[in-house]
Amino acid sequence: MKIFEKAFRVMHELELHGYKAYLVGGAVRDYLIGKSVGDLDIATSAKPEQVMNVFDKVIPVGIEHGTVLVRYEKESFEITTFRTEGTYSDYRHPDRVEFVTDITADLARRDYTVNAIAMDRNGQMVDPFSGREAIEKQQLITVGNAYDRFEEDPLRMMRGVRFVSQLGYQLDQEAREVMESKRSWLNRIAIERVAIELEKLCCGDYVKTAVRLLSQAKLWEALPVFKDHPTLIDKLEQRMQPLGGLSEWIALCAIYSGVSVPDWVKHWKLSNSVKQEAQALFYMLQSDLAAWTVYQLPSHLDAGYCRLMAIYQDKDVQADVARIRAKLPIHQRADLAVSGGDFVSWFPDRKKGSWIRELFQAAEKAVVENRIPNDKERLKEWVLHGYDA
Ligand code: ATP
Ligand code: MG
Repeated sequence: MKIFEKAFRVMHELELHGYKAYLVGGAVRDYLIGKSVGDLDIATSAKPEQVMNVFDKVIPVGIEHGTVLVRYEKESFEITTFRTEGTYSDYRHPDRVEFVTDITADLARRDYTVNAIAMDRNGQMVDPFSGREAIEKQQLITVGNAYDRFEEDPLRMMRGVRFVSQLGYQLDQEAREVMESKRSWLNRIAIERVAIELEKLCCGDYVKTAVRLLSQAKLWEALPVFKDHPTLIDKLEQRMQPLGGLSEWIALCAIYSGVSVPDWVKHWKLSNSVKQEAQALFYMLQSDLAAWTVYQLPSHLDAGYCRLMAIYQDKDVQADVARIRAKLPIHQRADLAVSGGDFVSWFPDRKKGSWIRELFQAAEKAVVENRIPNDKERLKEWVLHGYDA
């Protein structure tokens, strides 16, 4: 309970002002399961303006849905007013949220019963949908009728698969059936929201089971790029293992589908950093493992590259990558003992041009491959006396 101490103080603060407050969502679920707890979400009977009056530092991050971010003793807590939800005509935000005073009504709007448990600051649980029993039985059951809940917000289908990946639980039969027959509902959802779930999905310990579910419930038919490459999901399913993030997933999907990384990134509206990382991993997967290729791979992607090689080529390259990286004489271009200016000064008669860049790259590669020491005089000699570019 130590991890919740500060959250409990925040909740106590709200109670002192006459409001109710509970810890809700993933934190309660993961605590009950015995997994490490992520972000701490608090639900309260206080309206957003009232929460803002209780605390000094409050950022109204999603005030129209009743959520504010409170900074308390250098930590952040999302505090959301108890609410019920109307219909989702844009499939992103409910048309109207209605604030309520009862935690049970708030729990009823949540997606799966394991996510619909509230805990007060004494550790007392409010569990009207038997979420603890579902944890016991390792089941993912929608709060209420799966059809209605998925129709309200089809992202819940993807969230279900994501929780399968993270928890290894069984998705309830009714939910599976609705998922399969109504998979096209997923097309109504902004792809950015789907991508957030995919990112969590691909990192889960049970990702293979989750990919199998995507395949069996044919949910892939509602996912960009996947839907145009029917064999891709099977290829993934055969060899999938937990990944470190979306860039690894995209690199692997690009290899298996023949669709380029930039195209994947465009269809899934992913960030530039995912694009760059996926691109680097993609090239690395198709290159020989050597000093020059390891040098070009940003070192924070080593682990991802190793994970992908285990999947893609069934090879454990961890020790090789570590050995090659440790032996690299330089780690970046700036480590080279010469600069572009040196080259210019060594060839005073030559006009500036692309030869500088080419020479520079040749020198960089020669140093990385240990064909020449990273020493200015030696590099000069090598450059002036004909290098084998
Ligand atoms: P994580 O550990 O990844 O944060 P989480 O369960 O806390 O998982 P969040 O996306 O942080 O997931 O959402 C917090 C809680 O809000 C969920 O546990 C669930 O109760 C509720 N929730 C989130 N998204 C939805 C949704 N689309 N429909 C219904 N309830 C939702
Ligand atoms: Mg959460």
